[in-house]
Amino acid sequence: MTETPSTDALPASWPWLEKLVGIDTTSRDSNLPLIELVAERVRGLGLEPQIFHDDGGTKANLIVTVPAADGSRSGGVMLSGHTDVVPVDGQKWQSDPFTATVRDGRVYGRGTCDMKAFSAVALTLLPQFVEAELAQPLHLALSYDEEVGCLGGAQIVKQIADLGLAPRLCVVGEPTTMQVIRAHKSINVLRIVFTGVAAHSSLTPQGVNAIEYAARFVTTARRMADDWRENGPFDEAYPVPYTTMSVNRIDGGIAQNTVPDRCVVEMEFRSIAAVEPTDVVDRLRTTVDDLRASMQAENPAADAELEILAMVPGLDTPADAAAIGDVAAWGGVPSEGKVTYGTEAGQFSGSGIETVVCGPGDIAQAHAADEYVELAQIEECEAFMSRLLAHLSQGGEA
Ligand SMILES: [Zn+2]
Repeated sequence: MTETPSTDALPASWPWLEKLVGIDTTSRDSNLPLIELVAERVRGLGLEPQIFHDDGGTKANLIVTVPAADGSRSGGVMLSGHTDVVPVDGQKWQSDPFTATVRDGRVYGRGTCDMKAFSAVALTLLPQFVEAELAQPLHLALSYDEEVGCLGGAQIVKQIADLGLAPRLCVVGEPTTMQVIRAHKSINVLRIVFTGVAAHSSLTPQGVNAIEYAARFVTTARRMADDWRENGPFDEAYPVPYTTMSVNRIDGGIAQNTVPDRCVVEMEFRSIAAVEPTDVVDRLRTTVDDLRASMQAENPAADAELEILAMVPGLDTPADAAAIGDVAAWGGVPSEGKVTYGTEAGQFSGSGIETVVCGPGDIAQAHAADEYVELAQIEECEAFMSRLLAHLSQGGEA
């Protein structure tokens, strides 16, 4: 094990990475200290950061554009990163998770891999983009609350549209070991609350059993999941080549001798492109509607409601999209694979921007204790961004 080497052995992006990791941006907390630091620095470069707060005012998205030499702010390339990180609660770390620490050719720290290294590289290269005579603009988009349902991403695509930026291409820098990933599944999280009527369990006709109705719902959900598994549609590029769905939490009842008046079911499904998430939600809603009708036939006070907690769209950029060739030309590693984790890329794609996922680090290290990114990965990302800079400077079709 080696200590943090002298700074001349570290990649150019080290100062930014150290700063970003040093600001605890766990999703439950504010990301404003990080946003304010970035805003101050980019103002120092003569740029005008656009800051959009969430409803609570404790979090914000930041969008900054390096205009083309002719002043144009529309078109060009967007780099996208989320600012938040997952909690370290209950994890055993060898070094302080909020102090970027170099050991054995790796930088350890929460968010090093997912995904502050990418943002650090972009911020490090930003002055060079400002100095260059860009033929087309470069945009940097930093979002909040990606880890809790891509909430900032849903807003940022609207904010990009409102600003009229219309980038032709977006690179979401989630860890892919710099592979060019063009597709991932959608992620949809639902909660269904069954409200029955409590009664002494010797008097079942006077009650409406919330757990029993919830159980019927769970059975229906499992049948749908089994049908996808057996009959497709299939997409063999995924490790699990079909749409999955599972009920992952259930909570109901208070005592063995009381008919339960409440049961809460939490579930998620992850769809491939051939399955439309809103159709799945509609089917589940129909099931809930039918169950509610049966419950209310027993007692009109009963109820059942389906609530959508998050719907993060999937990504399915065509294999022959120009963005894929471009990102590969800048050093992204070509890949046939599709990934199982969700990102903001589906939101960008859904707003009409050709989008790929490509960033330093391995997703296997994300969210874990002793999260790290290889120094070599950071250097690869720096080389990638230098090629992007050259491309945009040369007036290439971006
Ligand atoms: Zn991430």
